Amino acid sequence: MPDEPSVYGERGIPTVINAVGTHTRVSGSLIREGAVEAMVRASREFVHLADLQAYASGLIAEVTGAEAGLVTDGAAAGLTMSAAACMAGNDYAIMNRLPHTEGAANEIVIPRAHRNQYEVAFRAAGAELVGVGLNKLGAPGGREDVEPWEIENAIGDATAAVAYVDGPENRLALPEVVEIAHANDLPVIVDAAAELPPTSNLTRYVEEGADLVAFSGGKSIRGPQASGIIAGRKDLIASAAVQMLPSGVDAAVWDPPAELIDADDFPGMPRHGIGRPMKVGKEELMGLVRALELFVEEDDREVVGEWNARARHVAESLAGVEGLDPELTNPNDPDAKSSVVVGVDEERAGVSALELVRALHAEDPRVFVGESRVHQGAFTVDTQNLTDDEADYLVDRVRANLG
Ligand SMILES: *Cc1c(COP(=O)(O)O)cnc(C)c1O
Repeated sequence: MPDEPSVYGERGIPTVINAVGTHTRVSGSLIREGAVEAMVRASREFVHLADLQAYASGLIAEVTGAEAGLVTDGAAAGLTMSAAACMAGNDYAIMNRLPHTEGAANEIVIPRAHRNQYEVAFRAAGAELVGVGLNKLGAPGGREDVEPWEIENAIGDATAAVAYVDGPENRLALPEVVEIAHANDLPVIVDAAAELPPTSNLTRYVEEGADLVAFSGGKSIRGPQASGIIAGRKDLIASAAVQMLPSGVDAAVWDPPAELIDADDFPGMPRHGIGRPMKVGKEELMGLVRALELFVEEDDREVVGEWNARARHVAESLAGVEGLDPELTNPNDPDAKSSVVVGVDEERAGVSALELVRALHAEDPRVFVGESRVHQGAFTVDTQNLTDDEADYLVDRVRANLG
């Protein structure tokens, strides 16, 4: 809750106290001041976008250990561009046809337990998803949600890539997937959009053999909301870049920076590709570059420790409230983020968890808590995006909305 006048408030747009986490619907995270400053400075001069992407590629390569990288319009756009790169390679005829995929291998094999709403990003490029395994972790009848032979069995002539989506509940080891995919000459695309911190994850997926990995720029990196990165193999990044960057006007003067796109690998100047409607401007690019530089300098334990201290404070503040039963997740792991799961006893609290969540939405500023367990009689509080004052305000509004 900043003291200065709100650009939203001035226009009657309600602001949000974000206790949900880095969810895009409530605008993700707050961009770092240093990144804002870089965006403002970026806005004052012209630059060739390909030169800027080539610079970003170098930085992404340095911090991830990958051969190259690309700044995309969010991690989801990064998945679209990854799918497009795996399907088209350096074939202009296929690029020009996407999202129609006649003549191209267009299937992406994905463990069913990894499927989520973001898979539309793969399909946007024209890819078809081929689900394998069980759709539930630890489901009876399988050692794991997916067995290696199931991935192997789904691979055929139409396969373009294997997708792997990481998350806290994932149990499938990436190297095992990489081994199968690489034995079949197929790339592995990793969606690690929300898997930072730990900062070590920036290098982990590449080390484990991922050919392309996508991270959000607008979550914990705290770059511009509409930014993301993909890191990976130089040929695939070049294909994604060719399909995203604006093309030139005259083939005779098409001179992309060789570090990003080796023109000799492509049959001349490209046309605008599937990525053109997901453009990244110079401001977002520089904002992401600066945010990434600042993110890698941070001490994870310190950052997570601050979130967790605030989570403990919220849990303690709600502990004495009639009808509420707050509990911390990961209470004993200093490296893992804790959130607060607050059980709501409808009888004693005078409201159900659902009614409370809805009432908090109607506050001004709007208060958003996590609703994933609302039908089990609980709401959650993620303290990553709260200040200490906002955490106290949240506690106050929760109390005020009890029956
Ligand atoms: C947030 C998220 C995305 C999308 O990231 P954006 O940067 O918002 O485009 C994709 N996949 C997963 C698993 C995510 O959590």
